[in-house]
Amino acid sequence: MLLDNLKAIVGPGGWTCDPDALEPHLTEWRNALRGETRIMVSPSTTDEVSRVVSACASERVGIVPQGGNTGLCGGAIPDGTGDQVLLSTARLNRIRSIDPQDYSMIVEAGCILSAIQDKARKHDRYFPLSLAAEGSCQIGGNLSTNAGGINVIRYGTARRHVLGLEVVLADGTIWDGLRSLRKDTAGYDMKQVFIGSEGTLGIITAASLQLYPDPGELTTAFVAIRSAFHSVELLAALRTSLADRIQAFELISDRALRFVVRHIPDTRMPFDKEHRWYVLIDVAQGRDDGLLEQELMRSIEEDLALDVIVAKSIAEADALWRLRHSISEAQKHEGASLKHDISVPVGSIGNFLERAQSLVDKFIPNARLCTFGHVGDGNLHYNISQPKDGNIEEFKTRGADLSEAIYALVTGIGGSISAEHGIGTLKKECLARYCSATELDLMQSLKRALDPLNTLNPGKVI
Ligand SMILES: Cc1cc2nc3c(=O)[nH]c(=O)nc-3n(C[C@H](O)[C@H](O)[C@H](O)COP(=O)(O)OP(=O)(O)OC[C@H]3O[C@@H](n4cnc5c(N)ncnc54)[C@H](O)[C@@H]3O)c2cc1C
Repeated sequence: MLLDNLKAIVGPGGWTCDPDALEPHLTEWRNALRGETRIMVSPSTTDEVSRVVSACASERVGIVPQGGNTGLCGGAIPDGTGDQVLLSTARLNRIRSIDPQDYSMIVEAGCILSAIQDKARKHDRYFPLSLAAEGSCQIGGNLSTNAGGINVIRYGTARRHVLGLEVVLADGTIWDGLRSLRKDTAGYDMKQVFIGSEGTLGIITAASLQLYPDPGELTTAFVAIRSAFHSVELLAALRTSLADRIQAFELISDRALRFVVRHIPDTRMPFDKEHRWYVLIDVAQGRDDGLLEQELMRSIEEDLALDVIVAKSIAEADALWRLRHSISEAQKHEGASLKHDISVPVGSIGNFLERAQSLVDKFIPNARLCTFGHVGDGNLHYNISQPKDGNIEEFKTRGADLSEAIYALVTGIGGSISAEHGIGTLKKECLARYCSATELDLMQSLKRALDPLNTLNPGKVI
């Protein structure tokens, strides 16, 4: 009955029950988690989303929103019962308007992130959210996870770029908050409640986004450094002279780079000599063109940097960035992995890495660390691949204890167990353990108030 109702709401072409068509929507990107469903609906208008949500609420059936399904915490896949309805936002993919004078645009939730960047660029504007999955992730997913990516150091996380939202609430009511105001203190800032809530409080159907002036040409440099401690020192030194022109500052470990070169075609190590750590930097050029090069030369003299490559063309810059963007894909080829998307105070990055290394040595001595991260945000992807030819089951069992110890270390030094990927199902228990009782209680009150029947992405986050 519900299925027939849903099919009628979205019409032919707006749903599928075909197991082959459903398959790619039932596992998360790393194939580590899997769910089941009897139907995936793909509404093409906000009104259809509203009617789907309302129909599910009246039958008390859970509904799981899914964007590009590039999330890494299992938030976008249904549970194993087959009873939850999967709602894809892929057909909500119109750019409703762009206003270059106002530096804003209104987009639907299913717009691919790179399409939004391209549209802004066509109008000589810039949308700064950028991540390796930008060719397939959708803005609704980005906002629901408060995505970070490579430009947070200069522009902040996804949250910062939102001026307004259109959201379908748990009973199907449409909240039209698509304002493009820069200032608005009329009551609570409701849009912020939905951003980062991973589909558990409402379904985002459209967003009013803030655009920025085009930063112009970027200078890209790949720098070899002695240790992760030096990445923090180097960033602090460069910030003194380049101020807020640093657009990206990414830490990459030697092993992460070697995984890429091993598995991704047409890639090669940037330097003849191997080093333990590298940083990849993007700087927006100013009138004092050449300042980055000067500063990097000085950092070599001061022993902050060991070797430097400055890209001489866009093709060279793209090749260097390809190394960074391919790390997650390359790591997939190295067997089972443990991933820790964590953040620590920026000044504690080196200290964390040293202490975490001794935990790895204690729990899984031959595990292979594949660390990278965003230095300016204190966000590390502390990823660990199984020992070569090791036993996967043993790796998983010991890995659970290791992850626990890593999260305890992170929170002990004032960090977070989730920096930019969210909680989903993967870190739900962890959140309950490391979040204060008061904070958890506030989250639960919010969930009860906005989704009293618990039909919006049930079982996720809290
Ligand atoms: C190679 C790779 C690199 C990545 N790099 C980064 C990175 O640098 N920074 C970063 O932050 N993340 C990164 N990610 C993670 C992922 O790309 C982001 O979390 C992204 O924002 C998810 O978007 P999506 O459209 O794929 O969302 P999905 O995976 O489909 O969904 C994510 C969550 O949002 C919910 N959701 C989706 N759409 C809506 C909606 N319209 N309304 C309400 N809830 C919704 C889902 O239910 C789920 O809980 C990376 C992933 C990969 C595979």
